[in-house]
Amino acid sequence: YYDQMQDSERLRSTGELAAAVAHEIRNPLTVVRGFLQFYEGDASVESRMKQNFSLMINELDTAEHVISQFLAIARPHQDKEVEKVDVKEALQSVTDLLQFYGILHNNHIHLHAQEQLYIGAHMIEFKQLMINLIKNAIEASGVGDSIAVGAAREDGHVEIQLVDSGCGMSEEALKSLGTPFYSLKSKGTGLGMMICFRIVERYKGTIRFRSSEGQGTTVIIRFPLYHE
Ligand code: ADP
Ligand code: MG
Repeated sequence: YYDQMQDSERLRSTGELAAAVAHEIRNPLTVVRGFLQFYEGDASVESRMKQNFSLMINELDTAEHVISQFLAIARPHQDKEVEKVDVKEALQSVTDLLQFYGILHNNHIHLHAQEQLYIGAHMIEFKQLMINLIKNAIEASGVGDSIAVGAAREDGHVEIQLVDSGCGMSEEALKSLGTPFYSLKSKGTGLGMMICFRIVERYKGTIRFRSSEGQGTTVIIRFPLYHE
């Protein structure tokens, strides 16, 4: 097994760079969308073409949605007070949501979380963190594999464990985790882990991965307990 701890300095600069890139990509998208919308409404354009325009607009809207979500995460908003996040409640809603995604691969997600575990975070971001990690676990899994999500109190911290029995990662892949655009998937963005590392760092947590090829992956996340 290899261990990989986050490197917060590298993450800070790559995160900011990625946020800037996302912002710059948004402008040309808006321009192209405007043109398509214009031709969609143009009486001289064939209706068969118009159908294509509306498909293209849809795709651009998806891209815009991804960028907006990403910017909301990448941009620090330290001004907002952290919330008291009920870890079990958050994990329950995330696993309920992803159960549908898992069904496509015939994967089942098992949740074992202690009651009354609270961390100081923003609920939306904590959920986004867990969604990204669990989605990766599902995507790494084979048909019928199960995924276990656990949460327990562990010396002054909340410890969340995510265990999959999927394809696992090589030492090199582990080292590349969190590097923007690093992905081994044909349709991957390679942004998920970078976003995860940023969220963990923002709420003073730690994340580590134990993995080896063909042996599955365990992700261990720790956050300080919430104090009133
Ligand atoms: P994406 O999911 O879009 O590829 P991520 O940043 O979420 O981007 O993940 C980067 C890469 O890390 C993935 O392409 C995959 O190769 C690897 N990875 C992440 N989580 C796991 C996991 N649980 N098991 C195996 N590989 C993983
Ligand atoms: Mg991912």
